[in-house]
Amino acid sequence: FLSINGLAKSFGTNEVLKNIDVEVEKGEVLSIIGPSGSGKTTLLRCINALEHPDKGIFTFQDGFNLNFDNKISKQEILRLRRKSGMVFQSYNLFPHKTAFENVIEGPLIVQKRKKAEVKQLAENLLEKVGLKDKMNLYPYQLSGGQQQRVGIARALAMEPELMLFDEPTSALDPELIGEVLTVIRDLAKEDWTMVFVTHEIQFAGEVSDKVLFMDGGYIVEQGSPEEVLKSPKEKRTQQFLQRIL
Ligand code: ATP
Repeated sequence: FLSINGLAKSFGTNEVLKNIDVEVEKGEVLSIIGPSGSGKTTLLRCINALEHPDKGIFTFQDGFNLNFDNKISKQEILRLRRKSGMVFQSYNLFPHKTAFENVIEGPLIVQKRKKAEVKQLAENLLEKVGLKDKMNLYPYQLSGGQQQRVGIARALAMEPELMLFDEPTSALDPELIGEVLTVIRDLAKEDWTMVFVTHEIQFAGEVSDKVLFMDGGYIVEQGSPEEVLKSPKEKRTQQFLQRIL
């Protein structure tokens, strides 16, 4: 679905991503794990063009290519951004809009789709994440887990080719994590192509087709969950897993 080659990104003198190569297959669930500050979120934000890479070549299966060594137009950035939907750690819902209004905003205003069609879509998605009965409530009236489920429905409403999750449960109280993971687990069983950054190592092992371990701006190791989580080859991966499991 997408190949990324030689991706690099610095903030000032801080080289956060160093020559990253990633391959995402269609329908694949890819999770990115690694210590704090290793560049996981930055990698995800580069895929969504929320950060502008310094270098790197993005090649999509549909023939769309971007080479960040060259000058990239605004249209190309928009095209890249539209390919993916992002679920943020801190939900990022519009506080003055209900759950329903949060979900319809993108398809209605950005994609200019028909109101009746978007209304139906939003209702279906809110039902999918178990929140149909709460669709007219505002974010402040919802728990963190419920807000995050609205965040997922909102990203799905744009019908992106790729879903990106940036530590979707790390802002949640432990008792609310399960309900969000259940929604993600259901999506993983469907045909969605998904990349997620997570600290939930066990969950990553359970739902992922591929796990990628990052440290210090590099991909240290990648492979199936069994390879990376059960029998990692690299010392740094072993040490990381020993610390957190
Ligand atoms: P965590 O697990 O703690 O979220 P991470 O692996 O996702 O960490 P990133 O958030 O990608 O790591 O950050 C990697 C490095 O990039 C850090 O040193 C961080 O301080 C730096 N960084 C990230 N965003 C910016 C920014 N907008 N401006 C300057 N530095 C940044």
